[in-house]
Amino acid sequence: MWPFRKKKSDQELQSNPFYREGNLLVVYLKCDKCGEYFRSHLRIGYDFINDYDNAAAPYKIDKIYVGSKCPNKIHLLASFGASYKVRTVSLEGGKFITKEEYEQMVQEKKEAEK
Ligand SMILES: [Zn+2]
Repeated sequence: MWPFRKKKSDQELQSNPFYREGNLLVVYLKCDKCGEYFRSHLRIGYDFINDYDNAAAPYKIDKIYVGSKCPNKIHLLASFGASYKVRTVSLEGGKFITKEEYEQMVQEKKEAEK
């Protein structure tokens, strides 16, 4: 059986790492230094910065993530079009991972705790 939703390829992940889930955009990150995983829920209408002067990309994300395992800062910058379609995205200090990779890590952690 094919999975219900196709896994993002590396190329897709770099150009659009966001997963739309209803009123959320979800992004999965991994720290460059220690390999800690992050999942971030970006709520439409709350977590986005409005940039009304920029009609082509009126929404922005500018967020810093700091994990519990090391002092490395992960900086996510992204801009979005009117329907929250990704225009630009950049990440410093970490890399984007797929939802599947994140969920596998969660699963493995659960198994290890049993
Ligand atoms: Zn780290």
